[in-house]
Amino acid sequence: MKDKFSVWTIGCQMNVADSERIATALATVGFEESDDIFNSNVSIVNSCVVRQSSEDKVTSKLDQLSKHKHNKNDKEKIIVLMGCMVGPKTDNLEQRFPDVDLFLQPQNYEPLVNLLYEQKGIDKEGCLSNLDIKPRISSFVPVSHGCDKFCSYCIIPYRRGREVSRQIPVIVDEVKKLADNGVKEITLLGQNVDSYGYDFSEDITLADLFEAVHEIDDIKRIRFLTSHPTDMDIRIIESIANLPKVCNSINLPFQSGSNKILETMRRGYSREEYFELIHDIRDRIPNVAMSADVIVGFCGESESDFEDTMDLMQKIKFDKLHTAIYSERKGTIAARKMKDDVHMDDKQRRYKILNDEQEKIQAELNSKYVGEVNNVMIEGLKRGKVFGRNEQDKLIYVDNPNMKEGDMVDVKIDYAGPWAMKGKVISYVNQALL
Ligand code: SF4
Repeated sequence: MKDKFSVWTIGCQMNVADSERIATALATVGFEESDDIFNSNVSIVNSCVVRQSSEDKVTSKLDQLSKHKHNKNDKEKIIVLMGCMVGPKTDNLEQRFPDVDLFLQPQNYEPLVNLLYEQKGIDKEGCLSNLDIKPRISSFVPVSHGCDKFCSYCIIPYRRGREVSRQIPVIVDEVKKLADNGVKEITLLGQNVDSYGYDFSEDITLADLFEAVHEIDDIKRIRFLTSHPTDMDIRIIESIANLPKVCNSINLPFQSGSNKILETMRRGYSREEYFELIHDIRDRIPNVAMSADVIVGFCGESESDFEDTMDLMQKIKFDKLHTAIYSERKGTIAARKMKDDVHMDDKQRRYKILNDEQEKIQAELNSKYVGEVNNVMIEGLKRGKVFGRNEQDKLIYVDNPNMKEGDMVDVKIDYAGPWAMKGKVISYVNQALL
């Protein structure tokens, strides 16, 4: 009987991509993937520490795994903690989680491969040489790792290290393999994707990478995450506008609408510069969908700072807004030098006001799609219904149950709510050959 493994993942798309890579590597050398993390021989928890609530969920999952291992007296079981919770030193983690067999920093898969080689006799070379992600219609492709920004609230640069870009030919090769395996849409991932190539000695940017992957015939859509206002320059904007496969959908976190808070967050731009950038983007890409990330209740945020945030989001009208309540992360500049002084009641009140307003904005923006025909790529089933996304990354349910993953269809939108739309398939653009 094959050994089973299971990966439980929380956090950003970078974590999802890391989990997919490790799952593919283990499947390649004969392990069977399972949904049941408790009854797997190798249980991998891929962690996130961006928010306290994420860390709490990881802790709870590890405690449950530990209890299960003891109850079953399963001495052979291997528990692995990977991702952003694991820093260069693991002494504290080893004390907190004595039943975890291995701690892996992000993207550092080799110690797991070595352990499985020692304990299970796997083919090390086969495993490490095959870290391409398993094919899905839409796949994540990390193009850089780490971040050089050191925003005062963020733990990522300490856990994922300084920014390192992957070379264009390596990325192109990986995307070609994905395309050969049926992938039609890729999302180029970087903690700060707009600074792709800044660490190269040659003058290479995200725009060059867009051009290179755009050449691959079977890739129909190119998305990218996450942008940073100080690094999204005119060349990147022009290439999004000019390359048809690069989707007109940009996630550009603003984090706060108050100049005072932006400065203490060390974001490197003012609200005026952010407005100017949005103006430039909308000027050159008229049908662009803008999304953003925002934090409420950061250290020192007054009612008037929060009003500046409300004012910014009401004026810009984002298609989507990822809202977070600030929670202190040990080791960050904010935790060391600032006071987490906004009361939780105020944080929660502001969070609710912001989200209620955003829901209204989304309903208003989405209603404009009713009657339009949108090109939709079918991604699968959600709650028993066929769904896909348009270029602007809007979730669209379609009436035809016979659609296959990867079908590209034109859909006439007949309903739009704040979170999703519905429509009728009026024609095939491209039928999947899966
Ligand atoms: S840009 Fe700022 S928030 Fe984003 S990963 Fe880097 S340090 Fe963190």
